[in-house]
Amino acid sequence: MSAPAGPRPLRDDAVVRVDDTVHLVSGSHTNWVIVRDGDTCTLIDTGYPGDREAVLASLARLGLAPESVAAVLVTHAHNDHIGAAEHLRVTYGTPVLMHEAEVPHARREFLDQVSVGQVLARAWRPGVLPWALHAIRSGGTAPLRVDEPRPFPVEGALDLPGRPVPLHTPGHTKGHAAYHLPALGIVITGDALVTGHPTSRAAGPQLLPGMFHADRARALGSLDVLGALDADVVLPGHGPVHRGPVGAAADRARERA
Ligand SMILES: [Zn+2]
Ligand SMILES: [Zn+2]
Repeated sequence: MSAPAGPRPLRDDAVVRVDDTVHLVSGSHTNWVIVRDGDTCTLIDTGYPGDREAVLASLARLGLAPESVAAVLVTHAHNDHIGAAEHLRVTYGTPVLMHEAEVPHARREFLDQVSVGQVLARAWRPGVLPWALHAIRSGGTAPLRVDEPRPFPVEGALDLPGRPVPLHTPGHTKGHAAYHLPALGIVITGDALVTGHPTSRAAGPQLLPGMFHADRARALGSLDVLGALDADVVLPGHGPVHRGPVGAAADRARERA
């Protein structure tokens, strides 16, 4: 069988093995995480709307069918993290779970996101304009919502592959959540703690630039929540895998902020 024509949706090096059961996938500008358990998995975040084929391709690369996703866990409802969530929900009935404070955001009862005007005011800064153009092309400003977002059904560990434990880490958005995999010492930090971004020159643990946070003071406070976890692998929403105690990573991000 010949390869399909057109650009491949996913780079060869886009799927990074973190553990036998955990893979970090780098989409066009955003990461998502696949936590598998046999032939089922938990999918944490789903890239930009323009990353949908890449999300499906990343599952396929691990031998997982889209209908095998037990649930989508959302760190927060920005377009670059919920891009394929509604597609999976509508097509396969996949539940889309998030912190209860993020539910109205996912329904777009309001939009807690940096505006085009705020970005353009900073377009002179290195990396901002190319990032903004990419974000617009990838659906970053397109109308997008999840029609039936669900709050976590229980406190503590969720009955899903990896038994992820959600942690409320507000600031970037009101209902931002990180996901801790205690048995593996891994934490998925979304945009509460990143390790790089096209608009940042720094590499390593950091907060996103200030314009991206709904409440920067709370974002700083959430670093304490993350820093107290027992984890030595950080899987961020943007940037590469960080190996090292999350406490030190949170300290580094606070120093730089
Ligand atoms: Zn975000
Ligand atoms: Zn993001």
